[in-house]
Amino acid sequence: MENIFLADTMLGRLAKWLRIMGYDTHYQSFYGEGLITRLVDEGRMLLSRRRMLTNRFPKSLYIRSDHLEKQLQEIKDAGYLTHDRSKWFSRCLNCNVELEKIDIQKSSRKLPEYVQYQHDVVINFCPSCNRYFWKGSHREHMIKQLNEWGYG
Ligand SMILES: [Zn+2]
Repeated sequence: MENIFLADTMLGRLAKWLRIMGYDTHYQSFYGEGLITRLVDEGRMLLSRRRMLTNRFPKSLYIRSDHLEKQLQEIKDAGYLTHDRSKWFSRCLNCNVELEKIDIQKSSRKLPEYVQYQHDVVINFCPSCNRYFWKGSHREHMIKQLNEWGYG
């Protein structure tokens, strides 16, 4: 089964990069009473820098490093990074929901002008925050970074 994650409060950057790689990763800067338990019960694997917390949940991974690259490596070493790069950029980095692919030429959706003038034929749309995404220098930069880390 595909892993879905739950990133503890200190792991915001890690959560963002897991989303970039297409992993369903729940993240909040604050978790109220009982929320982590509920999310783990939903099947999420808890990622945390706090041993006290990971000790409470069998389905968890204690993250030792506070360096992003090493944190990803720890998850990879544990065998939990199983996606190939076809999943990269399939998820909204802000909302964690799966993006819809829109073919600009075939879509009946009324697209904003700045989107219609993009060179890409297929663009992504987030149904949660209603934003459009396409390939660009920002994405190129992230791909370069992932490749440098040895992914892809
Ligand atoms: Zn979104």
